[in-house]
Amino acid sequence: MAKNFHKPTRMCVSCRERVTQSNLLRLSCKNGRVSLFNGVGRSFYFCSSCQEDDKKLLKALMRQCKSNKRDELMNKLKEIITDDR
Ligand SMILES: [Zn+2]
Repeated sequence: MAKNFHKPTRMCVSCRERVTQSNLLRLSCKNGRVSLFNGVGRSFYFCSSCQEDDKKLLKALMRQCKSNKRDELMNKLKEIITDDR
């Protein structure tokens, strides 16, 4: 259908919107701990608007990481987002 070769899109795991890859934060989870995606294993994405919404982020993060450690996940995520900018 539409020609989107030059603009790859990914789905945000929080709002499930499809966005171009440049606007996404790519993360991965290992043993219930979140980190920036380092090229290995499974990864997931957050769009830029969801990155502004802590509640949405945390909810999606808990689902992705299969973890209930809210504080730990949130602190680490904040660290990643801050480092990334
Ligand atoms: Zn989103």
